[in-house]
Amino acid sequence: MNAKSPIRDTYDVIVVGGGHAGCEAASASARSGALTALITLDASKIGVMSCNPAIGGLGKGQLVREVDALDGLMGRAADLAGIQFRMLNRRKGPAVRGPRTQADRKLYRLAVQNVLSEQDDLHIIEGEVHDLELENGSVSAILMADGRRYACGSVVLTTGTFLRGLIHIGDKRIVAGRMNEQATNGLSATMTRAGFTLGRLKTGTPSRLDGRTIDWAALEMQKADAEPVPFSSLTAKITVPQIECGITRTTTATHDLIRANLGRSAMYSGSIEGIGPRYCPSIEDKIVKFADRDTHQIFLEPEGLDDHTVYPNGISTSLPEDVQLEILKTIPGLEKSVMLQPGYAIEYDHVDPRELEATLETRRVRGLFLAGQINGTTGYEEAAGQGLLAGINAARKAADDDPLTISRTEAYIGVMIDDLIRRGVTEPYRMFTSRAEFRLSLRADNADERLTPLAIRLGIVSSRRRDHFERSVGALDAVRALAKSIELTPREAARHGLAINQDGVRRSAYDLLSYADVDISWLERVDPRFASIDKKAAEALEIEAKYAVYMERQKVDAARIRGEEARTIPSDVDFSKVSGLSNELKQKMVQRQPGSVADAERIEGMTPAALAIIIAHIRNHENSGRKGAA
Ligand code: FAD
Repeated sequence: MNAKSPIRDTYDVIVVGGGHAGCEAASASARSGALTALITLDASKIGVMSCNPAIGGLGKGQLVREVDALDGLMGRAADLAGIQFRMLNRRKGPAVRGPRTQADRKLYRLAVQNVLSEQDDLHIIEGEVHDLELENGSVSAILMADGRRYACGSVVLTTGTFLRGLIHIGDKRIVAGRMNEQATNGLSATMTRAGFTLGRLKTGTPSRLDGRTIDWAALEMQKADAEPVPFSSLTAKITVPQIECGITRTTTATHDLIRANLGRSAMYSGSIEGIGPRYCPSIEDKIVKFADRDTHQIFLEPEGLDDHTVYPNGISTSLPEDVQLEILKTIPGLEKSVMLQPGYAIEYDHVDPRELEATLETRRVRGLFLAGQINGTTGYEEAAGQGLLAGINAARKAADDDPLTISRTEAYIGVMIDDLIRRGVTEPYRMFTSRAEFRLSLRADNADERLTPLAIRLGIVSSRRRDHFERSVGALDAVRALAKSIELTPREAARHGLAINQDGVRRSAYDLLSYADVDISWLERVDPRFASIDKKAAEALEIEAKYAVYMERQKVDAARIRGEEARTIPSDVDFSKVSGLSNELKQKMVQRQPGSVADAERIEGMTPAALAIIIAHIRNHENSGRKGAA
């Protein structure tokens, strides 16, 4: 069966919403062999980027690579749409590098729509899902606002910012799911009726500018990387033209203007009840919270190759339109710019993710899965990672197969889902590398190695990906075997310019690769066979060898933290002045007074590094108590 066969009235899986979670869910479900329908308000908007025209970044880039390793869409679409590829943290170690690209909005949307249209077993249906039919605690059908009914084995809800969506621009309010798109209310009522706890969150977006009215000549420009690194391992080369973006800054005049108008900002006038993302603050937030700073950076990102719209990254706002226009006049290069659309904040309903199993199925309604912004996350990549897992599990549920879970040790996807279902959210959740205790092993460069074997076992990969993966593994095995077979004495190493301990111990070329001064080009000088090996396999081997020792250490640290989980926290420990702990975590530790390390671990925003500091502080406290008693 293919996507052109007639619409049915019964599906194995129905995915509601054509955003980043919904597209991955629908594709993964269909790839799993389930007859799947993707129902969304407007099919032409499938794959739309609601806010910033960019994919990836720190922590987020790893998620995209993982989605790709599981044969998801996001990486391939970003490769076809990326107009400014940059590897963030390039000078730091591979574990914290973040692949990112600015994306042409239209190309991205079309790339996603193309892949979905070619997917077998997937139907796309337009319309508003208004309600769910529940029978004996399980979902059995969805009901459309226009009266259509589709029966199903399971449902994945990925409704993004649309549930009771409310846009704020100063004191102006517009009921909408995104600018110029209807909000949906029915499903909020359904979820409340089924007993779910709903919360209210908010996020914001900056104005859009006409690039032809920006004084680019006055601005510093930022180039793409000379050699763009694709997201998908199936992409051989990026062929989309790469562009520059501009950099400008707010001025003291901008800050004075914002301070004078704070009372007119929807957020600061008290008209928004939802909580916004701490890590993606509005310009009002930045000026209030970082009052000592007199400037903030703004990246001027063109939204497409044949589009004059520019996204001013860094000044999302809910100030009234007239103030937004005045703000532009205070920013170098933007003084005469024309605003095409004002910035706005949006509030929406989300479900408490502690209602979910690690499969993303709700505990309350069997067969009902939730993914993306509805679970309290923010960001395309976070949505995609959840969508993919929910889609696989919805299909497996419909087929009565065992569910799939991904652990914190396997993937950032596992870290995110574990954080969500154990800790819940009080503000929109976004991914950071610091959330992962195993980040040395959860690298962007080894996502295929970690996850593609799983995807092959599940039967959700194309034959092209399977063949490509098997070839890559074969190449890496061959290079590893070669590196392990060549041994050098310290004296031989010295002859090739490497100063190591002259202890007479022979070391393999693989062991020597862990030294900072040794790379593949050094090995080429030692043995010419290295000159003809596969370049990607060589890079992978170098990273593997350099990280091997740290990964061992990481395993020991992780085991130590697990061993400390039962440790109780005495009620008289003062966490308000612990150095090295962020103010946010100090406050949460003081307010919540967790009774044990395991309880502290469940605090939202807790990182493995912070937990290690907390454990050390408790130990010090206990030791000083013992000394006092003696
Ligand atoms: P969405 O991409 O929102 O997709 C939801 C889909 O569900 C849409 O296709 C919609 O048509 C469909 N839908 C909803 N209800 C129904 C229904 N009842 N029936 C049928 N279809 C339905 N992320 C960041 O990382 N940083 C930011 O700064 C940021 N700012 C944002 C600002 C704004 C104004 C908005 C709107 C979003 C912002 N985001 C930001 C969030 C980012 O857009 C989302 O995290 C991401 O798009 C979530 O993906 P999703 O698939 O969960 O939902």
